[in-house]
Amino acid sequence: MIPPTRDSLGTLLAHLREAGYRITTPRRLVLEILLDNPHGHCHYSLEMVAQELAARGIDLDVTTVYRILQWLKDAGVIAQTDLGEGHDVYSLAGLAPHHHLVCLHCHAIVEVEDTLFDPLRATLLERFHFQPRIEHFAVFGLCEVCAKQAPD
Ligand SMILES: [Zn+2]
Ligand SMILES: [Zn+2]
Repeated sequence: MIPPTRDSLGTLLAHLREAGYRITTPRRLVLEILLDNPHGHCHYSLEMVAQELAARGIDLDVTTVYRILQWLKDAGVIAQTDLGEGHDVYSLAGLAPHHHLVCLHCHAIVEVEDTLFDPLRATLLERFHFQPRIEHFAVFGLCEVCAKQAPD
């Protein structure tokens, strides 16, 4: 099981309203699904969210679901990441922050802790006065097994 989000649906909705966002019924339903985490999975593709809505008898077309996910991303509620699976995945930013190492060869995905990126954050701030938003980051490369097998 993944750790629960820090914010309940009620708290999140209150934060969003405070920030001046309008909470429509479709927006609330999509957020509800991401928070419910019905498959015990922290990554959701657009299709998975759309399927879950359909399974609950909610009829929203994929374009609408996509726009809601983009809105949640802009509001900082979810992060969007390309894990090399051919589609982007969305995950709640309130979950324990983590990143992934993605093998380009066998497509194995390993989770790594957020603190690994602290030195990079510090360097970017010091040298470039840049505050990076490194959230749910995917680093592509070769895993140990594939690196050993690679002819080069
Ligand atoms: Zn992840
Ligand atoms: Zn590999």
